[in-house]
Amino acid sequence: MLDMIILDAHEAELRAALTTADGSEAAAYLLFGSAEIAADPWTQAPRRRLVSRRVLSIPPEDLISASGVHVTWSTRGFVKLLKQAEQDGLIAAIVHTHPGSTAFFSEQDDRNERDLLGIVSNRSGNGHSFASVVLGGDSSIAARLWTSPGTMEPCRRVLVTGKRISLHVSKETVHAPESLDRQARLFGPMFNPTIRALRVGIVGCGGTGSPTAMMLARLGIGGLLLVDDDVIELTNLNRVHGARRSDAEARTPKVEVLAREIRSADLGVEVATFRGWVGDADARDALRSCDVIFGCTDDHDGRLFLNRFAYFYGIPVIDMGLRMMPAREDRPYEMAARVTVVAPGTPCLLCRGLVVPRLAAEEALRRTDPAEYERRKAEAYVMGGGDPAPAVVTFTTETACMAINELLQALTLFRGGEGMKPERRRRFDTVDDRSTTVKPRIECEMCAGTGVWGLGDVEPFLHRMG
Ligand SMILES: [Zn+2]
Ligand SMILES: [Zn+2]
Repeated sequence: MLDMIILDAHEAELRAALTTADGSEAAAYLLFGSAEIAADPWTQAPRRRLVSRRVLSIPPEDLISASGVHVTWSTRGFVKLLKQAEQDGLIAAIVHTHPGSTAFFSEQDDRNERDLLGIVSNRSGNGHSFASVVLGGDSSIAARLWTSPGTMEPCRRVLVTGKRISLHVSKETVHAPESLDRQARLFGPMFNPTIRALRVGIVGCGGTGSPTAMMLARLGIGGLLLVDDDVIELTNLNRVHGARRSDAEARTPKVEVLAREIRSADLGVEVATFRGWVGDADARDALRSCDVIFGCTDDHDGRLFLNRFAYFYGIPVIDMGLRMMPAREDRPYEMAARVTVVAPGTPCLLCRGLVVPRLAAEEALRRTDPAEYERRKAEAYVMGGGDPAPAVVTFTTETACMAINELLQALTLFRGGEGMKPERRRRFDTVDDRSTTVKPRIECEMCAGTGVWGLGDVEPFLHRMG
C-alpha cells in the first residue's frame, strides 16, 4: 500500500505558485522523504509512505507550452532534480494542476510520465522511481509512484497535514456506518468517511489517554493504535476509563484494558496495541503508519521522541498535559490543562519549555539501567520520581475533549480557516481559556526552520543518538 503526506505549508506553496491568471495548467517539482513500513499495525501488510520535503519551482525558461488542458516543460530540470534526490536520499516528484477539473491522471499524463520513466530508467543508483501529483481545481489531489522498469503504483490516500488536516482517498475505499449519522448532521456527509479512513495513535493510556481512546472510538476513527508500557493499578481506577477493580488486581496492561473495551463495543473500529515505550525500535512501524498522534504521556523522554517524530514524518502530534496543585494557606488552587499541536509550522515542545531534557535523561536511565537510577535517586541526584501528581477524572477527561476538538477543528474548520491552535490553555480554577504562542529558539533544528521536515527515514532514526 502506498500513501502520501503533503505538509500543508507545501500544499499552500504549490497552490499559490501554480495558480495562473488565464486558467492554464502549471507545474513544479517536489522532493519526498519516505517511510518504509514492514508491517502496518492494523493489517500487518507492508506499506510505503511518502512525505513532502521541499517544493522546487520549474524555471520559466523551461516551460514549453501550457493551456487549460495541458502543460509541457523541458526535462533538463528533471534530470537535475533526479540527481539531487539521489544525493539527499529523497524521491523526486513532478506536480501539475488541472485547474478546470478534479484531480485525475489523463492519457496525456500517462504518456508524459512514461517518457520521464525512460529518463529515470537510464540512470543508475537510487534514482529508479519518481512520483507524480495532480492538484485539481476543486482542491482534490491525486498521486502515484512510477518505478523502473515500468510499474506504476497508485497512491491510495493523500493526507495534507499541519494545522489543518485533509484526507484525499479513492472513493471506493470508505464506507461510513449509520451509527455515525448524528455527527454527519453537524459536519456534513464527507465527515464520516474521512473519520473512518483515519488512523490515529494514542501514546499513553492513562488519565488523558483513556478518554481520548474511548472518545475517538465513539467518533468512528477507523484505526486506533494504543501505546503504553504500564499496567492498571488501584490508584488508576479514579480516572482510567474502562478499567475495572479486577484489572488492578490482575495488573492488566492499560493497552489491553482499552482494546478490550473498544472491541467489545463493536463499533467497527480496528484496534492495534503496542505494549512498550513509544521510542522502542519495535514501535516504529506502528507510529509511522499513523495519520495523527495524541500525546497523552507525562514522560519527558517520550515527549522528546514524539517532538522529533512529528517534524521528520509530518505526522501531527496533539500533546496534552495538566497542572494540578492543591490550595494551601498561602495560595489558591492552580488547575490547568494544556493542548499543544506539534507539527511542521508550529513551535516545538522544547521551544515551549514543555520538555525538561534533564528529566528525559533520568527517565531514559530508569528504563535502561534501573539499578543505577535507584542508586542516584537514593543519593538525591535525580530531580524526578517524587510524589505522584494529583488527578481527577473530570479534568483529565476535559483535557482529552479539548485535544480531540482540535483534531475536529483541523478536519472541519468549525472555528474558522486557520486550523488548530498551536497551543490552548484552560484554567479550571479561574475559568480562563486562551491560546498561547512562543517564538522558536533560533537554533532549534525541529521548528525554527524546515531543516528536518519531511525527511522521513534516516540513519540513525530521527537523527537520535543512543
Ligand atoms: Zn494532467
Ligand atoms: Zn523548537
